[in-house]
Formats: sequence, C-alpha cells, structure tokens
Amino acid sequence: MIIQNNKLSIGKAFTASSEIPVKDVDAYFADLDEAHALGPMSYDVVLTNRGKHIDLEADIKLSLALCCFRCGQDFERTFDTHLSLKLVEASSITSSDEIVLDEDDLDTVTYQAPNIPIDDLLLESVYLELDGQCLCNENCKGICFNCGQNLNLGDCSCPKS
Ligand SMILES: [Zn+2]
Ligand SMILES: [Zn+2]
Repeated sequence: MIIQNNKLSIGKAFTASSEIPVKDVDAYFADLDEAHALGPMSYDVVLTNRGKHIDLEADIKLSLALCCFRCGQDFERTFDTHLSLKLVEASSITSSDEIVLDEDDLDTVTYQAPNIPIDDLLLESVYLELDGQCLCNENCKGICFNCGQNLNLGDCSCPKS
C-alpha cells in the first residue's frame, strides 16, 4: 500500500488495513537466511498529518519461520507489535532548518513526497527488529563446537576448558 501525502488533510486521521502477501514479505527478508513468512503480514495503520510531519501508528501481525543462528534450530516467532513512526518528507530536511533530526530519535523516517510506502516502512521496522536477533531464545546455549551437541538439550561430555 502506498499513500499520497497530499491526500492527507491536516489534523485528520486516515486509517487503513491491508495485508502484505507472503511472497512480498519473503522477498523483503531474502538476505536474512532462513526467514520465511508463515502467512501474510497484516496491519492496521493510522496516519495523521501534523503539517510538518506525519504520525504513523500501526499494529502489525506477522508469523515468521526462522533459524537460530546460535544453535541452528528452526523456530517460529510471531510479531504482534505496535509501531509509532514520525514521517518526514525527505526534501524538507535539507531545505529547512525547522526540522532537526534528533540522532536519538530512531523512530523518525523520511519519505519521498508524495508517496508514503507504507508496506516498505512496516517491513523495514520488522526487519530492524529481527536483525541480529534470530535467536530461538535469548538464553540459547548454542552447540558444542567440538561434538555438535545442541547444548539446549543437555550438556555434552566434552571436557570443559
Ligand atoms: Zn538457538
Ligand atoms: Zn561437546
């Protein structure tokens, strides 16, 4: 889904719901090894034009099949998350000193007017959340480099150094 910013009247909330097909989600995550959508990514989005920027609020649901990079086990993760982003038109940043991008403000993203690529923005935020976090469990013990035993299933008998 792509929304044109000039269709959003100031101060009025625009709501929409949509789904991103499995093949498009998989294409977006293609460079993440072993990440596959188990179904379409569905979302509800609310856009509110604040004049200088647009507020985006979204509820995202997506189930992914992933592969733990530490132990190699397949696992599933379901994202059921709320997302808040502040959308700033890219050209307004260089031509105006009114908008100062705070370096700590990770939730500010830019777009090329008039098109706001909702699907890509939402996919990107899930992608960022996933990156480096493909762990079956944050306490995953991984595998023994010596014998290959999955240490989540129990200790192996290799000598501990
Ligand atoms: Zn693991
Ligand atoms: Zn071992």
